[in-house]
Amino acid sequence: MKYAIFGDIHANLEALEAVLAHASAQGCTEHVCVGDVVGYAANPRECLDIVRQMGCPVVKGNHDEEAILDTSLEGLNPLAKQAMEWTRNQLSPEDREFLANLKLVRQVRDFTIVHSTLDTPGSWTYVTNKFDAMASFSYQFTQLCFYGHTHTPRIYVKGDSVEALEEMTVTLEMGRKYFINVGSAGQPRDGDWRPAYAIYDVENQNVTIHRIDYDIQTAQDKIIDAGLPEMLAHRLSLGK
Ligand code: ZN
Repeated sequence: MKYAIFGDIHANLEALEAVLAHASAQGCTEHVCVGDVVGYAANPRECLDIVRQMGCPVVKGNHDEEAILDTSLEGLNPLAKQAMEWTRNQLSPEDREFLANLKLVRQVRDFTIVHSTLDTPGSWTYVTNKFDAMASFSYQFTQLCFYGHTHTPRIYVKGDSVEALEEMTVTLEMGRKYFINVGSAGQPRDGDWRPAYAIYDVENQNVTIHRIDYDIQTAQDKIIDAGLPEMLAHRLSLGK
Protein backbone atom coordinates (compact mmCIF):
# COMPACT_ATOMS: atom_id res chain seq x y z
CA MET A 1 0.00 0.00 0.00
CA LYS A 2 1.22 3.47 -0.87
CA TYR A 3 0.10 6.73 0.71
CA ALA A 4 0.37 10.09 -1.03
CA ILE A 5 0.85 12.75 1.66
CA PHE A 6 0.51 16.37 0.59
CA GLY A 7 -0.31 19.78 2.05
CA ASP A 8 0.00 23.54 1.75
CA ILE A 9 -2.10 23.34 -1.39
CA HIS A 10 -3.18 26.94 -0.87
CA ALA A 11 -5.99 26.85 -3.40
CA ASN A 12 -3.65 25.97 -6.29
CA LEU A 13 -5.91 23.57 -8.20
CA GLU A 14 -3.46 22.87 -11.04
CA ALA A 15 -0.78 21.83 -8.54
CA LEU A 16 -3.17 19.61 -6.58
CA GLU A 17 -4.39 17.87 -9.73
CA ALA A 18 -0.79 17.29 -10.86
CA VAL A 19 0.14 15.81 -7.47
CA LEU A 20 -2.85 13.45 -7.53
CA ALA A 21 -2.15 12.32 -11.10
CA HIS A 22 1.52 11.71 -10.33
CA ALA A 23 0.67 9.84 -7.12
CA SER A 24 -1.82 7.66 -8.95
CA ALA A 25 0.80 6.80 -11.60
CA GLN A 26 3.15 5.77 -8.77
CA GLY A 27 0.51 3.34 -7.45
CA CYS A 28 -0.78 5.40 -4.50
CA THR A 29 -4.27 4.38 -3.41
CA GLU A 30 -4.43 6.35 -0.15
CA HIS A 31 -4.33 10.11 0.35
CA VAL A 32 -3.55 12.23 3.38
CA CYS A 33 -3.50 16.03 3.70
CA VAL A 34 -1.42 17.94 6.25
CA GLY A 35 -3.46 21.15 5.99
CA ASP A 36 -3.62 24.61 4.43
CA VAL A 37 -5.97 23.61 1.64
CA VAL A 38 -6.94 27.27 1.13
CA GLY A 39 -5.30 30.72 1.08
CA TYR A 40 -3.24 32.58 -1.58
CA ALA A 41 -4.35 31.10 -4.93
CA ALA A 42 -7.59 31.20 -6.89
CA ASN A 43 -9.38 27.89 -6.31
CA PRO A 44 -10.09 27.36 -2.61
CA ARG A 45 -13.53 25.80 -3.15
CA GLU A 46 -12.38 23.46 -5.90
CA CYS A 47 -9.43 22.25 -3.79
CA LEU A 48 -11.73 21.72 -0.80
CA ASP A 49 -14.16 19.76 -2.99
CA ILE A 50 -11.41 17.42 -4.14
CA VAL A 51 -10.05 16.80 -0.66
CA ARG A 52 -13.55 16.32 0.75
CA GLN A 53 -14.65 13.97 -2.01
CA MET A 54 -11.58 11.78 -1.55
CA GLY A 55 -12.59 11.42 2.10
CA CYS A 56 -8.94 11.49 3.06
CA PRO A 57 -7.66 12.35 6.54
CA VAL A 58 -6.92 16.09 6.81
CA VAL A 59 -5.54 18.21 9.64
CA LYS A 60 -6.15 21.93 10.06
CA GLY A 61 -3.60 24.47 8.88
CA ASN A 62 -3.30 28.10 9.99
CA HIS A 63 -4.86 29.38 6.76
CA ASP A 64 -7.72 26.90 7.11
CA GLU A 65 -8.31 28.32 10.57
CA GLU A 66 -7.93 31.97 9.55
CA ALA A 67 -10.29 31.53 6.59
CA ILE A 68 -13.27 30.75 8.81
CA LEU A 69 -12.71 33.42 11.46
CA ASP A 70 -14.45 36.77 11.44
CA THR A 71 -11.60 38.45 13.25
CA SER A 72 -9.62 41.38 11.96
CA LEU A 73 -6.68 40.66 9.67
CA GLU A 74 -4.63 43.62 10.90
CA GLY A 75 -1.74 41.43 12.08
CA LEU A 76 -1.12 39.92 8.63
CA ASN A 77 1.21 41.31 5.99
CA PRO A 78 -0.66 43.14 3.17
CA LEU A 79 -0.32 40.27 0.69
CA ALA A 80 -1.68 37.68 3.10
CA LYS A 81 -4.39 40.07 4.26
CA GLN A 82 -5.70 40.74 0.77
CA ALA A 83 -5.60 37.03 -0.12
CA MET A 84 -7.35 36.05 3.11
CA GLU A 85 -10.14 38.60 2.66
CA TRP A 86 -10.70 37.26 -0.84
CA THR A 87 -10.64 33.64 0.37
CA ARG A 88 -13.12 34.32 3.17
CA ASN A 89 -15.58 35.68 0.61
CA GLN A 90 -15.30 32.57 -1.56
CA LEU A 91 -16.18 29.91 1.00
CA SER A 92 -19.65 28.38 1.29
CA PRO A 93 -21.22 27.47 4.65
CA GLU A 94 -20.39 23.84 3.84
CA ASP A 95 -16.73 24.75 3.24
CA ARG A 96 -16.58 26.63 6.52
CA GLU A 97 -18.11 23.77 8.45
CA PHE A 98 -15.65 21.30 6.92
CA LEU A 99 -12.69 23.50 7.91
CA ALA A 100 -14.08 24.17 11.38
CA ASN A 101 -14.27 20.45 12.13
CA LEU A 102 -10.68 19.65 11.21
CA LYS A 103 -8.44 18.47 14.04
CA LEU A 104 -4.93 19.75 14.68
CA VAL A 105 -3.33 16.31 15.04
CA ARG A 106 -4.47 12.93 13.76
CA GLN A 107 -3.21 9.40 13.68
CA VAL A 108 -3.60 7.58 10.38
CA ARG A 109 -2.81 3.86 10.38
CA ASP A 110 0.63 3.74 12.07
CA PHE A 111 1.65 7.37 11.54
CA THR A 112 0.71 10.85 12.78
CA ILE A 113 -0.11 14.01 10.81
CA VAL A 114 0.04 17.63 11.94
CA HIS A 115 0.35 20.96 10.12
CA SER A 116 2.97 22.79 12.18
CA THR A 117 4.51 21.08 15.24
CA LEU A 118 3.53 18.33 17.67
CA ASP A 119 4.63 20.25 20.78
CA THR A 120 2.42 23.32 20.16
CA PRO A 121 0.21 22.45 17.17
CA GLY A 122 -2.28 25.32 17.63
CA SER A 123 0.40 28.02 17.94
CA TRP A 124 1.52 27.66 14.34
CA THR A 125 5.23 27.86 15.08
CA TYR A 126 7.72 26.62 12.49
CA VAL A 127 10.12 23.69 12.51
CA THR A 128 13.11 25.11 10.68
CA ASN A 129 16.02 23.31 12.37
CA LYS A 130 16.85 20.19 14.33
CA PHE A 131 16.24 21.90 17.68
CA ASP A 132 12.66 22.70 16.67
CA ALA A 133 12.35 19.12 15.44
CA MET A 134 13.64 17.82 18.79
CA ALA A 135 10.80 19.57 20.62
CA SER A 136 8.28 17.96 18.30
CA PHE A 137 9.85 14.51 18.65
CA SER A 138 9.15 14.67 22.42
CA TYR A 139 5.43 14.53 21.57
CA GLN A 140 5.67 12.02 18.73
CA PHE A 141 4.31 8.62 19.79
CA THR A 142 4.42 6.94 16.39
CA GLN A 143 7.60 6.10 14.51
CA LEU A 144 6.58 8.34 11.64
CA CYS A 145 4.96 11.78 11.50
CA PHE A 146 4.27 14.01 8.49
CA TYR A 147 3.89 17.79 8.67
CA GLY A 148 4.05 20.94 6.51
CA HIS A 149 3.73 24.70 7.22
CA THR A 150 7.27 25.81 6.23
CA HIS A 151 6.68 24.92 2.55
CA THR A 152 10.14 23.34 2.53
CA PRO A 153 10.55 19.56 2.35
CA ARG A 154 12.81 18.08 5.01
CA ILE A 155 13.42 14.69 6.63
CA TYR A 156 14.41 14.73 10.32
CA VAL A 157 15.58 11.48 11.90
CA LYS A 158 15.88 10.82 15.62
CA GLY A 159 18.29 8.12 16.72
CA ASP A 160 20.73 8.93 19.51
CA SER A 161 20.52 12.52 18.26
CA VAL A 162 18.39 14.44 15.76
CA GLU A 163 19.63 15.16 12.27
CA ALA A 164 18.24 16.54 9.01
CA LEU A 165 18.97 14.34 6.01
CA GLU A 166 20.49 15.77 2.83
CA GLU A 167 18.54 13.38 0.64
CA MET A 168 14.80 13.36 0.00
CA THR A 169 14.27 9.63 0.54
CA VAL A 170 14.63 7.41 3.59
CA THR A 171 14.14 3.77 4.56
CA LEU A 172 12.60 3.46 8.02
CA GLU A 173 14.66 1.62 10.61
CA MET A 174 13.52 0.12 13.90
CA GLY A 175 14.41 2.23 16.92
CA ARG A 176 14.39 5.50 14.98
CA LYS A 177 11.72 8.15 14.58
CA TYR A 178 11.02 10.26 11.51
CA PHE A 179 9.49 13.75 11.34
CA ILE A 180 8.99 14.51 7.69
CA ASN A 181 7.99 17.80 6.08
CA VAL A 182 6.28 16.89 2.81
CA GLY A 183 6.88 20.35 1.32
CA SER A 184 4.16 22.39 -0.35
CA ALA A 185 1.98 21.26 -3.23
CA GLY A 186 0.70 24.72 -4.12
CA GLN A 187 3.32 27.28 -3.09
CA PRO A 188 6.87 25.88 -2.63
CA ARG A 189 9.30 28.24 -0.88
CA ASP A 190 12.60 26.41 -1.09
CA GLY A 191 13.61 28.06 -4.36
CA ASP A 192 12.19 25.22 -6.45
CA TRP A 193 8.82 26.07 -8.07
CA ARG A 194 7.80 22.44 -8.54
CA PRO A 195 5.05 21.04 -6.29
CA ALA A 196 6.30 18.69 -3.57
CA TYR A 197 4.62 15.75 -1.83
CA ALA A 198 5.64 12.52 -0.15
CA ILE A 199 4.92 8.87 -0.84
CA TYR A 200 4.95 6.44 2.07
CA ASP A 201 5.42 2.89 0.79
CA VAL A 202 4.13 0.73 3.64
CA GLU A 203 5.38 -2.66 2.34
CA ASN A 204 8.90 -1.42 1.66
CA GLN A 205 8.95 0.91 4.67
CA ASN A 206 10.30 3.90 2.86
CA VAL A 207 9.32 7.52 2.27
CA THR A 208 10.27 9.59 -0.78
CA ILE A 209 9.57 13.25 -1.44
CA HIS A 210 8.76 13.90 -5.09
CA ARG A 211 8.97 17.13 -7.11
CA ILE A 212 6.76 17.31 -10.17
CA ASP A 213 5.87 19.47 -13.13
CA TYR A 214 2.49 21.24 -13.46
CA ASP A 215 0.58 23.86 -15.42
CA ILE A 216 1.95 26.83 -13.52
CA GLN A 217 0.87 29.33 -16.20
CA THR A 218 -2.81 28.54 -15.73
CA ALA A 219 -2.49 28.79 -11.95
CA GLN A 220 -0.81 32.20 -12.31
CA ASP A 221 -3.37 33.50 -14.83
CA LYS A 222 -6.21 32.54 -12.50
CA ILE A 223 -4.64 34.45 -9.59
CA ILE A 224 -4.41 37.60 -11.70
CA ASP A 225 -7.89 37.15 -13.22
CA ALA A 226 -9.34 36.78 -9.71
CA GLY A 227 -7.91 40.18 -8.76
CA LEU A 228 -5.56 38.71 -6.20
CA PRO A 229 -2.15 40.43 -5.74
CA GLU A 230 0.10 39.86 -8.78
CA MET A 231 2.98 39.01 -6.48
CA LEU A 232 1.14 35.83 -5.50
CA ALA A 233 1.30 34.71 -9.13
CA HIS A 234 4.88 35.81 -9.56
CA ARG A 235 6.18 34.04 -6.47
CA LEU A 236 4.96 30.68 -7.81
CA SER A 237 7.66 30.86 -10.52
CA LEU A 238 10.28 31.82 -7.96
CA GLY A 239 9.40 29.03 -5.57
CA LYS A 240 9.51 31.55 -2.74
ZN1 ZN B 1 0.96 27.07 4.28
